[in-house]
Amino acid sequence: MLSPHHDGCTFCGSVEANQLFLEKSICPDCLQQLRAMPGA
Ligand SMILES: [Zn+2]
Repeated sequence: MLSPHHDGCTFCGSVEANQLFLEKSICPDCLQQLRAMPGA
């Protein structure tokens, strides 16, 4: 069951998703990976 609300990290499902990326919940780990992505 998927919800568009803040149920966890959009990318890995971590419950520690306390950041927002393009209006999606994201955990610090995934956010760091996205920001480290070259050309992104
Ligand atoms: Zn994540």
